[in-house]
Amino acid sequence: MFELTEEQRQLQSAVRAFAEGEIAPHVSEWDEKSEFPHAVVKKLGEMGLLGVIFPDSLGGAGMGYVEYVLAIVELSRVDGSVGIIVAAHNSLCTNHIMLGGNDEQRKRWIPKLASGEWLGAWGLTEPGSGSDAAGARTTAVKKGDTWVLNGSKTFITNGGHADCAVVLAVTDKEKGTKGISAFVVEKGTKGFRPGRKENKLGLRASDTSELIFEDCEIPAENLIGKEGEGFKDAMRVLDGGRISIAALSLGMARGALDAAMKYAQERRQFGKAISEFQAIQFKLADMATELDAAWLLTMRAAQMKDAGKKVTLESAMAKLYASEAACRICDEGVQIHGGYGFIKDYPAEKFYRDVRLCPIGEGTSEIQRMVIARELLGKSPSRG
Ligand SMILES: Cc1cc2nc3c(=O)[nH]c(=O)nc-3n(C[C@H](O)[C@H](O)[C@H](O)COP(=O)(O)OP(=O)(O)OC[C@H]3O[C@@H](n4cnc5c(N)ncnc54)[C@H](O)[C@@H]3O)c2cc1C
Repeated sequence: MFELTEEQRQLQSAVRAFAEGEIAPHVSEWDEKSEFPHAVVKKLGEMGLLGVIFPDSLGGAGMGYVEYVLAIVELSRVDGSVGIIVAAHNSLCTNHIMLGGNDEQRKRWIPKLASGEWLGAWGLTEPGSGSDAAGARTTAVKKGDTWVLNGSKTFITNGGHADCAVVLAVTDKEKGTKGISAFVVEKGTKGFRPGRKENKLGLRASDTSELIFEDCEIPAENLIGKEGEGFKDAMRVLDGGRISIAALSLGMARGALDAAMKYAQERRQFGKAISEFQAIQFKLADMATELDAAWLLTMRAAQMKDAGKKVTLESAMAKLYASEAACRICDEGVQIHGGYGFIKDYPAEKFYRDVRLCPIGEGTSEIQRMVIARELLGKSPSRG
């Protein structure tokens, strides 16, 4: 089950070699300085990794979610910051245009995004509406041939560097979730600017910024899909996006486990390698088992998505389990390193900090449990 094809293995090796050669040497410095890895993002574009899940005809790599997971895992195994940059760009921003946009809109924006010429961001969260995304306050008001946006978005990945953002705004307050629409706002548009860049616990080389809209006027044709369908499309976008957060979790957990295995075989106490103590062996055994379970759930969701099936339940399960397992694995990674797990000379402490985003972003664990329970309890009768 879930045997990779030869092409998938080649992709995995190519991304691994890139991550080890071009990312690993800079990880600590970028983390320390909170420095966005512009040059690496450009190269990822050249490698096709900024358009993995989009068709060749739109400048994408023409691959699927299984390949997308493999790429995010390999990048995040070395640096979760790079993983989340790629994830927000592909499965949130660009995919919203792919899912909700018309042909003209796809042709207008996807080739630039898929090639990496442009970097994308996706703005749903607001200061007052996180889990309760329907409580958005940013408004878009129709004025002749334009829409005028006012409000702000918070915690937006790539927000400070994006060439365009897909933004959710209220177009009819009376209609609740059916009164929310999605728009593409391009960098340089008057009245649109990134706000504060967050100073974060982890994933510090990724950019997390506010987006601010002050009488920001955009052309009518920047409305994605139909008016009032933005929220519904955003939920579909998140079904796919959660697979990428599961992959981000898998990558960091893999990195933490690899580092712990290496350290456990090198570090000697009481005259032997600590890997010879059963207490350490059992930790490694649990970490590897949880990682494989998370991998299987994630690959199931990715394969179903590639087969065109609805994955609301499966992507929420994969995201919930992989993110929480990854936190446990990274925590044990620190423990196996003892005091050296607490200092920056070893990678364990960074995995421990970075991975903490995974049970929060794209819907917290609490929200995933609500989604799973809702799917189980009759909203989807076919699931028994
Ligand atoms: C690094 C980073 C990157 C991000 N990138 C993006 C991005 O690119 N685009 C974007 O739009 N957003 C992004 N986010 C925002 C992220 O999706 C939200 O932070 C997340 O959805 C939680 O919202 P909140 O922070 O407002 O927490 P809240 O919704 O205020 O939640 C606080 C706590 O209450 C719990 N809670 C809330 N409601 C319920 C309920 N009904 N039942 C039980 N518990 C509940 C939550 O689970 C959580 O534990 C990012 C966040 C971070 C930190």
